[in-house]
Order: sequence, then C-alpha cells, then structure tokens
Amino acid sequence: MFKECHLGFPVNTVKDYKDTVNLPQTNFSMRANAVVREPEIQAFWEQEGIYTHQAEHNPGEVFVLHDGPPYANGSLHIGHALNKILKDAINRYQVLRGRKVRYVPGWDCHGLPIELKVLQQMSKEERQSLTPLQLRQKAQQFALNAVSEQLTDCKRWAIWGDFEHPYKTLDPEYEAAQLGVFGQMALDGYIYRGLKPVHWSPSSQTALAEAELEYPEGHISRSIYVKFPVESFDSSLLPIGNTVDRRLYFAIWTTTPWTIPGNLAVCLNAELAYAVVTDGEDFLILAKDRVAHLEQVLGRRLPIVQEVLGEELAGVVAHHPIYDRPSPVILGDHVTTESGTGVVHTAPGHGVEDFEIGKKYGLGVLAPVDNLGQFTEEAPSFVGLKVLDEGNQAVIESLQQRGFLLKEEAYNHKYPYDWRTKKPTIFRATTQWFASVEGFREIALRSIEAVTWIPAVGKNRITPMVAERSDWCISRQRAWGVPIPVFYDSETGEALLTAETISHVQKIVRHHGSDAWWELSTEELLPESYRNNGRTYHKETDIMDVWFDSGSSWAAVLETRPELHYPADLYLEGSDQHRGWFQSSLLTSAATRGQAPYKAVLTHGFVLDEQGHKMSKSLGNVVDPKVVIEGGKDLKKDPPYGADILRLWVSSVDYSADVPLGKTILSQMADVYRKIRNTARYLLSNLYDFDPKNHAVAYENLSEIDHYILHRLAQIQQEVTQAFDSYQFFRFFQTIQNFCVVDLSNFYLDVAKDRLYISAPNSDRRRSCQTVLAILVENIAKMIGPILCHLAEDIWQNIPYGTPVKSVFESGWVEADSKWYNPKLEESWRKLLPLRALVNGTLEIVRERKLIGSSLEAKLSIFTPDEELKKELERMQAELRYLFITSKVLLLDTEPKAGTGELYINLHQGSEQSSYATDATVRVDKAEGCKCPRCWNYSLEIGPTIHPDQPDLCERCVDAWRQMVI
Ligand SMILES: [Zn+2]
Repeated sequence: MFKECHLGFPVNTVKDYKDTVNLPQTNFSMRANAVVREPEIQAFWEQEGIYTHQAEHNPGEVFVLHDGPPYANGSLHIGHALNKILKDAINRYQVLRGRKVRYVPGWDCHGLPIELKVLQQMSKEERQSLTPLQLRQKAQQFALNAVSEQLTDCKRWAIWGDFEHPYKTLDPEYEAAQLGVFGQMALDGYIYRGLKPVHWSPSSQTALAEAELEYPEGHISRSIYVKFPVESFDSSLLPIGNTVDRRLYFAIWTTTPWTIPGNLAVCLNAELAYAVVTDGEDFLILAKDRVAHLEQVLGRRLPIVQEVLGEELAGVVAHHPIYDRPSPVILGDHVTTESGTGVVHTAPGHGVEDFEIGKKYGLGVLAPVDNLGQFTEEAPSFVGLKVLDEGNQAVIESLQQRGFLLKEEAYNHKYPYDWRTKKPTIFRATTQWFASVEGFREIALRSIEAVTWIPAVGKNRITPMVAERSDWCISRQRAWGVPIPVFYDSETGEALLTAETISHVQKIVRHHGSDAWWELSTEELLPESYRNNGRTYHKETDIMDVWFDSGSSWAAVLETRPELHYPADLYLEGSDQHRGWFQSSLLTSAATRGQAPYKAVLTHGFVLDEQGHKMSKSLGNVVDPKVVIEGGKDLKKDPPYGADILRLWVSSVDYSADVPLGKTILSQMADVYRKIRNTARYLLSNLYDFDPKNHAVAYENLSEIDHYILHRLAQIQQEVTQAFDSYQFFRFFQTIQNFCVVDLSNFYLDVAKDRLYISAPNSDRRRSCQTVLAILVENIAKMIGPILCHLAEDIWQNIPYGTPVKSVFESGWVEADSKWYNPKLEESWRKLLPLRALVNGTLEIVRERKLIGSSLEAKLSIFTPDEELKKELERMQAELRYLFITSKVLLLDTEPKAGTGELYINLHQGSEQSSYATDATVRVDKAEGCKCPRCWNYSLEIGPTIHPDQPDLCERCVDAWRQMVI
C-alpha cells in the first residue's frame, strides 16, 4: 500500500492555501432570475436607445422585415410568440451583422370579430339604437385597447421595433393609402360590381372570403336523389320513352335540397355515356357509370334499356319538380361520374360552376334566399323558411309529396363554415364588389417566381392557389372597416368611381379618418365638380374585406414610411397565410406595382401540445406565453421561466412543420439554458483579474490546447452564422449547446482549472488561458444574442474588463481570426480526444471500485500500437498529465501486463469498454509521492530538503505561492 506521503511529513490543511489559489469570482449569478433581470435589461436597452441607435447608425443597408399584423382582438397566444420571436431573432441577427434594422410592428384593427365583440357587450336595446358611427367608435376603442395589451406582451418577449409608432389599419394615413390601392385597381379595370354566388354566412349576414371559411370534420348534409320529369324530347332519339303509361325522368343528386327552388337547368357532360334504365313504372336517365351506384342506393335493380351519348340529349327539356317551369338540358365539362348521377341539378344563384355555365346558356341568376338565409317570395310556398333548417325539410317533403324523391340519405363531407360563428355557410348570389384576379393573374404568378420561398414548398402551395382562385369578393355588408369609396347615381343606379372622386375621398380620409364616410353628407364627400351637376348621388354602404386592409400594408407602411423600403426584404408568418396575407398582399401589389411586395417569404407551422394535439381550452393543454414567462398560480408546477426560455424553445424547433410545446419541453429548455449560462458564468468568473489590454497573450504564444479550442470556436462561428443565414435556428441550438457542454465544460474548461487556479496569477500559463476565456465569453454572448438576448446582454454587462461598446448588440457579429483555423491541429486532436475519453472511462471504473478518489490520485501508463497517436503523445508528453487531470502520465513501449495489485486496471479497445474510437491500453496506478495541499497533485518533489520554506508544497506550487505572497 502507498503511504499518504513517502517522506512522512505532516501535511498542512488545505484551508491554509485556499487564499493562495486563484478561485473564480463573479457577480454573474447562477440563476437567471428572469422575472426581475429581464425587465431590467429591457429597460437598459430602452434608456440607452440601443435599437434606435443601431437602426440609424449601423453601417450596413436597411433591413426590413415587414410585420404581418395580428388581429387586434384578445390576448396574444403561443402561436404569436413563435411568430414574433422568430422575427426578432432574425432582426437581432441583422443588427449584429451591422444592418439598419427597421421593424415596424402592426395591427389589423377592422372587421367582423371586433364588431361582434362590441355588439355582444351591449344590451339588446342599446344594439337597436346603435348607429354605424357609434358602432365604429366602440369598435375602435376595443381595437385600440387590444393593441395596447398585445404591444405590452410583445415587448415583454423582448421584441425590438418601433413600438412608439406601430402601424394600425385604422390609422387615417393607412386607410388613405389603402383607398389609393383600391382606386388604382379600379381605374385599371380590376374592380367590378356584379351579381355572383359568394360564400354567404347567414349567421353573420355577410359575404365571406375563402380565408374566412373552415371545413370542420363531421358535417352531415341531407343529400337527395330527385327525379326531374322529362317534358319534351325527340322520340326518335329515345324510342323507349314513348312507351305508353311510362314516364321518363332525369335522376339528379344534390347535397343541398334547399337549392332546388333555384334550379334552372339540368347539366350533362356531352362526352359521357348515359343510360335509360327501368325503375318500376318509370324510366330514369343517368350516367351509365353511375347506374350500379344508384342501384346500390335504391336497393333495387335498374335494368338498362337504352344508351345514349350526353351530347345527343341536348335539346331535351325537363320540368322543374316543384314549380311550373322548364329545366332544360345543358352541357358542361364540369359534370363527372365521380359522384352523384352524372346529371347535375343547376342553380346559377347557388354555385360557382352553375353560375358560369348558366352565364354561357343565358339562364339568368335566381337566388331566392335573403341575407338571413331565408327563402324569399321568389320561392313560393317556402317563403320565410331558413334554408339550412326547416327550408331544407320543406323542400324534401314537397318533393316527396309530388313523388319525385327517389331517396334521401345522410352524406358526410367537407362543407364550408363561417370561421368565426362556426355555423354553416351557403352559396348565394348577391351584388358584390370584386377584384378581377383574372385580370392580373399572370403578373401575380410571375411575381411568385421572383420571390424566395422558405421553405421552398411554400411556392408550391401559393402558386396553385393563385392560379386557380376565382375573383376576389372584396365587399362586406358591415360597418367596421374602410368604405368602398363609390357613389351611385340615385336615378340610374350607375356607379361613380373616377380618379377625381377617389382622390377626393382619400384626402378627406387622410385628415379625418374613415369615420368621415359616415359623418359627412354625400355632397361633402363628392368632389366639387359632382356637387351641382344636376344629378343626385348616394354613397356605398359596404366596406372592404379586411384582407384588403392588411393586403395593402406594403402601400400604407413600406411605401409610406421614409425609413422603410418596398418591396420588403422578408415577410414571415404561419403557413396558413399562403391563403391569407401573403396572397392578398401579392394580389394588390402585383395588380398595381407589377411585382410581389416581398423579396422572400418565410413560413412556420403551428404550435401543438407535446402529444401533437392542437391546443384548446377544452383539452386544457394550452401553453400561455404569460405563464411561461411570469410563472403560473402554482410556481412549482409552472415556474417563471422568463422570455429567454421561450426564445430558446423557438430556436430549438423545426418550425417548417408544426411544433410541440409543453411542460416537459420547457423544463428541457431550462436545462439547456442553465448549461449555457453556467458555461458563461465559469468564463466570467475566471476573468476577474484579467484585462486584455494589459494581459492578453499573443496567439503565437498560446498553448496547443488553446489553439485547438480557438479552431473549434472558428468552426462554431461558421456553423452558427450559416444557421442564422439560412434561418435554421435549430442548428444554432444544437451547435451552441454542444460547444458549451462537450468542447468547453467537459474538456477545455475542465483541463483549464489547473492553469487558472494553481498557476501564479500573472503567469503566462494562466494569462494565455484567460486570453482564450475572454475571446470565448465575448463570442458566445454575440452568438446567442439573436436568441438568448437577455442572457447575452447579462453576460456582456458582467464582463469584468472594460468592453469597447456598452451593449452586446453594438459589438457586431462574430468574426474568426484567420489564424484560428488550423485543420492540421484538428487532425492531432482527433487522435487525442478519443484517448482522453478512454482514460476518463478507465478512471471512472477505478473510482467506482473505490480504488482512488480524485483523478489526481492516479498515475497513468499508456501504450498504443497506433504510431500516429504515439507520435502525438510523445509530442504532448509534458502536457498529458494536465490533459488527463492526473498526477503523472507514462508512455509505454509495450502493452502493460495485468498485474496483481488491487489498484490496477487495464482497459483498452476491445476489452471492457469497446466503444472508444482509439487503439490504446491504459493502466491506472496510485500516483507516487505526497498530495500537495494547494494543488492536490501528487508529487515526489515535496519536503523540507527540497523547499525548506514551504516543505508541504509541491515544486509547482512553491513558485506560484512565492509570487503570490511577495
Ligand atoms: Zn501543488
């Protein structure tokens, strides 16, 4: 057994030497204390005007990420946090890259949901006496309150931008610019008024845009098969039809029985084969391919007695099954045999395809349904019935009574619902204002080509949406919005819309806001030349679709504010905006400027819970960003994580798809945060007596391990830069985490302890390590700045020496010294690091067997048959004991034999642990000599004969101790 000390001297207690060791010191706390510290840091940025100053004085070009306006209704949720934090990460990165970042947050303030909220807060009596102007004023107040609340939340997430001057779609200048876009489209012939079937919501009494619809699962329609009696036909064509006492019918199928009163024709496909089948006493005509299906539906055989081509049936006239009027056969390509009977009941007032084919055949448009979704007098015997309820029922009953109902069955399919009221909509022809997408579709499609879509699949999503979309219905029958600035000749009903009228209204709105449209008389709203021209006019009461509002933001914000530019560098929103804001902005911009309003579009997915379910109040799985930051009612269950944890989560996910979030993930994020924070803390705490100006060691004089870690830093910088440049923040997340844990904590800083604590304070050995620590801490602060902005600033503020700039965000982006790149060194360390892992594994086994305590109690003997590794080890021999944190390392020429002593272990590749990528054998023995009470290394050079003044210190510590006490 080894003796405690081979010389037998009593060893001083460690306590006596504690003050002579350079122990770390810092005020930078281990815990983030985000609830207090983050607002302090934000206040610092605000007081120092860091964002504003950088926006004005940075040397680079202006960078404009144009904010898609959230709706000014209710509180911001976690999806908004994902969106805004992504934007802020990009902006802060650009600030660090030296760009003049100009971010103007915006809010979408008009529209039905706000109107409904305001109305819900009022009593029935109040609602009845409400004028549009009063409603608008209440809606405005509601929107402004929501803006103010949401703005506070955004700032708490540390979103940088011009929050003093956000844009709001209700601002008079904004409204005026929007009227300008509308005016130009109108003058270019892209705006028209027409009767057209639109998605109509009886529950909100307004037309809806495609973006305002949703298609919930589980909608069941009452579908019906109906016989339309044939009134007249060419008997040579249908000889069978002449059979005495038998009647001939077309069999149609519809999922909307209430549209039967609007029927004006039956439509066949000219090229399809039709069959005449017998059904009891009747003959039915339907597509041949659908006979088997109808047999199944009716549960009886329908023998085919004749076949005829669709086009041959043109000219046949059927009779309406309820009203006494004809329903002629027409031909259309949209008729298929995918469902139904191949005979399409055609009601031009209730369907887009029906409307188009009806126009071709001059059928006219019949839509006997009013705003409330009730039958009008044009649908005799059903007047006043709600089409989706009792109206449907009454039509079915009527068909049954008349003997024309073949079958009714429940039909489960996608059906459009009003996304706000969650009630089904109908197709209904009304007079609306439209933007003729057809007129500028080619320009819009060309514009899509010129944009960078991130991820690239975004382009594949928006292209067909624009290629196939019908004209854009832009009018809404509501009060809370921007008026459609049109006058009508009271006598002729003709619309008045000229450059002069638009510019006049625009001027009024710019000064007084769009309330003026409701406040002022028609005469006042008209330009001088139309006031006394012998005609009388009245003004339009419809407002514009809110998508036209937000879709004009490029004109109202990018083109209007001198500090911004059009087109924007980037638009960034959820992937649903291909259908919404990306598209409406594209259409208005392509129509009037011939290009997209953005150079690049980045999309993200939605936030789901940890099981991949949609978040909903009823499931109780909603993550509230406020609770994440400030903590919940039970702080043990919902600790106050602060905004940085939320931001770290945003960086960790692959946002191109839907992203999960929940308690487990947040707690994992907090762990990663702590690792980064504590790495930074360790760096800071060893710099308390260091000032690069006086103490920095030149690169050439740094040790090899320093060179190696700077090489790694250069690689990390490159990787992180590429991650931010390509918006792949998860690569940043993985890289920085790995660097802090694997390269720094587990390796470089572990090895550095001896240099930092034990060496004399001003020795080159220690100063060179501190030189590297200073480089590391500054660079880590910069690299994490875009994401962990508070931590980055907190680190910067705690750097003990004077930094040239007061905020990390003024320090510029990381830049590797070209000398740092050293691929040759990497080759060496690629050999050494696996050996270090093998050594650590070996020491761990020895420790587990309680053969030694600290690794400093060990002496290593290493043998390797790998010549290259051997060369590296010989070259590094003097440093090896520090690299392995042991007291001595011997290199052997032959493989150490298994011995008999119990303090002996022999581990090599292929033995107990084969996972190490190194071919070496490591033997551990107890180190010889005495334990030095200052550095805890074991040494033979201890004792009064060697250092009479300090007999218990080792040879290294004596020198350091002398320097420190003198
Ligand atoms: Zn010592």
